[in-house]
Amino acid sequence: MTPIDFDDESHHNPIMSPSDAFRRLQAGHNRFKHSQIIASPTITKEELRKLAHRQRPFAVVVTCSDSRVPPELLFDLSFGDLFVIRVAGNILDGAEIGSIEYALRELDTPLVVILGHERCGAVMTAVKKYGEGTNVDTSPYMDDFLNNIHPAVLRAQMTGYEDQALIEETCRWNVIYAMKDLVQRSSIIQEKISKGKAKIIGGKIFLEDGHINWYEQDFNKTVSEDSKDRGH
Ligand SMILES: [Zn+2]
Repeated sequence: MTPIDFDDESHHNPIMSPSDAFRRLQAGHNRFKHSQIIASPTITKEELRKLAHRQRPFAVVVTCSDSRVPPELLFDLSFGDLFVIRVAGNILDGAEIGSIEYALRELDTPLVVILGHERCGAVMTAVKKYGEGTNVDTSPYMDDFLNNIHPAVLRAQMTGYEDQALIEETCRWNVIYAMKDLVQRSSIIQEKISKGKAKIIGGKIFLEDGHINWYEQDFNKTVSEDSKDRGH
């Protein structure tokens, strides 16, 4: 049997640095932003056959289940490129953190992106649920992700914003808190970061034009919390 050569395709490079991985993701996002028509990912049968034996995704993307934020399309990527975790409100809890740990430890994925989005329904529901004088009908299962967004709602409420501005500010804090949580809760991720083998980046995407505001983290566990969203 012929050994599989993983260096022959840029998108399965096992030794990509976190910075190179982020550059690759941004390049794909630029292609998406500047395209008039979004093509489906393309892949040859030969590439699929290689992938069947081993995957080397260069980034983990945690994003919302919302139908408007499909990661492979947003970053103009294909099979084998991204290890994707999708859950309403792009929250991180045990299973999501464990999935990220798996990708970093077993697949040597060097980049974790937590991508929130504008007009997020899960965040909107959390803002209503934890707002004053509102009564939102949820279920114990929905409460699982709503509870996770609660700290971001409380933090955003401190700004004094209301209505849509409060929802958008909560989306932003929800990403920032997820980044912090991930580092604080996972020793596997802490170790990867301290060795320079992984990086976490947050972002929030705007739906109409696909613009992403990125929130970078320095790994003294502080996030640039003054990275305000552009005006909308
Ligand atoms: Zn959403």
